[in-house]
Amino acid sequence: MLRRRFLFLGSAGIAGLLMPAKGWAAGPAARALAFHNVHTGESGRATYWAGGRYIREGLSQIDWLLRDHRTDLVHPIDRRLLSVLDELHDSLDTAEPFEVISGYRSPATNARLVATSTGVATASLHVVGMAIDFRVPGRALRAVRDAAKALRAGGVGYYPESDFVHVDVGRVRYW
Ligand SMILES: [Zn+2]
Repeated sequence: MLRRRFLFLGSAGIAGLLMPAKGWAAGPAARALAFHNVHTGESGRATYWAGGRYIREGLSQIDWLLRDHRTDLVHPIDRRLLSVLDELHDSLDTAEPFEVISGYRSPATNARLVATSTGVATASLHVVGMAIDFRVPGRALRAVRDAAKALRAGGVGYYPESDFVHVDVGRVRYW
């Protein structure tokens, strides 16, 4: 765990060197995402794309941060979901990290949630790394939902009682 955190800080430093200002068309664009996982307390910022290609280490960092926190099982997070989050972060015009309630869920974890909670889908896209539940500090949940819907990139679920928005890269649908 400590080593992971160290790697995170290290890559944040490298990201700082690689990352041109957004909108600087002449330079190689880099894409980074920052998360705070409310269950594990872990935070990290990972550059997952730079110089025209995906960065394996950055993707791994994101996969780890968004792992099934109940079992520590890791699953690749769909890259399309990363793009959606990146666009969402831009449209919300915020510097805050995504506060993650749920990323990847192992089949066992999802089955347990289906049995004990309401509103958890049996065929959840969380089980295949295509969905995330989150909120954005300093942005109204409603605004986050509307910005996500405007992207028309997949499913968007609104859970004001639990204070999170679900976004996935499945079919475009809203609830
Ligand atoms: Zn969800």
